[in-house]
Amino acid sequence: MDELKFNTKRTWAEIDLNAVRDNYTAIRRSLPDGCRFLGVVKANAYGHGALEVSSLLQECGADYLAVSCLDEALDLREGGISMPILILGHTPAEYTDLLIENDITQTVTCLAKAYEYSEACAKLGKTLKVHHKIDTGMSRLGYIVSGDSFEEGTDNIIESCRLPYLINEGIYTHFASSDEYTADAEKYTLDQFELFMAVIRAVKEKGGIEFEIRHCANSGAVVNYPYMALDMVRPGYLLYGYGDPENRIGLRPCMRLLTTISTIKHYAPGTCVSYGRKFTTDRRMRVGVLAAGYADGLPRAASGKCSFKTAGGYARQIGSICMDMCMADLTDLPEAEVGSEVELFGPESDINKLAEAAYTIPYEILCSVTKRVPRIYKNLSD
Ligand SMILES: *Cc1c(COP(=O)(O)O)cnc(C)c1O
Repeated sequence: MDELKFNTKRTWAEIDLNAVRDNYTAIRRSLPDGCRFLGVVKANAYGHGALEVSSLLQECGADYLAVSCLDEALDLREGGISMPILILGHTPAEYTDLLIENDITQTVTCLAKAYEYSEACAKLGKTLKVHHKIDTGMSRLGYIVSGDSFEEGTDNIIESCRLPYLINEGIYTHFASSDEYTADAEKYTLDQFELFMAVIRAVKEKGGIEFEIRHCANSGAVVNYPYMALDMVRPGYLLYGYGDPENRIGLRPCMRLLTTISTIKHYAPGTCVSYGRKFTTDRRMRVGVLAAGYADGLPRAASGKCSFKTAGGYARQIGSICMDMCMADLTDLPEAEVGSEVELFGPESDINKLAEAAYTIPYEILCSVTKRVPRIYKNLSD
């Protein structure tokens, strides 16, 4: 980030790359010997900066990266990332040449797509590295293998694997509820895992096919079901310091979202504040205008239901959050002054509370921090 832009000091995200590295090390330490580590860096590394985080993971010796789509993968290659990259989402077969040229691993989610990639490869006379994705209960992408579909599903995987030009490096599935702490969620996760293992067995027994990399553990499973690590784990959330409620692994959040107080005004009782007049002062109030709004990633749904750490303590946010600004009650916080910093989320302003206020999850808050918010990388020391 160039200094000049940061010097305008409006709203910015402080990213602690040392924390990312320490989280990586802590997760890695919790894994069984020989287990590979895939770092999920989709959606701009959950808002933290895909290239910065990927470069760090490459340097740390992570085994794989995952992104959601071809454009994200190409950005990493253009940025000099040479380690293996898996695309978790769909790539139209017409881009098979780009996948191959850039040595990117593509997820295959059904027999029809396996044929499309294989045919595209045949025209190019080149091979494509793939991981087959199995739908064991997420009901999103993947070969259907549940219940009556087991035989047909496993036959389809075998048929896909036998197509020419595909290098079948991996097989994986994704959990729907591995991060939920109810007996029902646990049963669902165990059932998904068992089905996944049954698919792997059937594909081996019926088709003689084995995969070098079997993986299923997202952050929830890394924390709650360590024995599901198999050949590789696939965490995103944990890497950024979240998702380990009992702090078993020992992680810390890597992002702080900060803004500044643009101005402070004193209002008489009965004054309406912001769009829609959702808040009215009930006494003489000292109100700060913060230089952050929903166009920076502050969720409008949290209007009037969140508070932020200021120099003088916690300030209640009042009135509707606007596109570029929002207001906060500084009446009893005299140390909060014009120009002073306000933490919107970070060590002192809990992102979970902000997410709850907005009826969402911290994942969404993290990847909603918009492009206009400069990322300031601090603390990368060797
Ligand atoms: C996003 C994603 C992950 C990472 O999930 P976390 O909960 O952030 O660990 C893993 N696998 C797949 C297929 C994903 O889409």
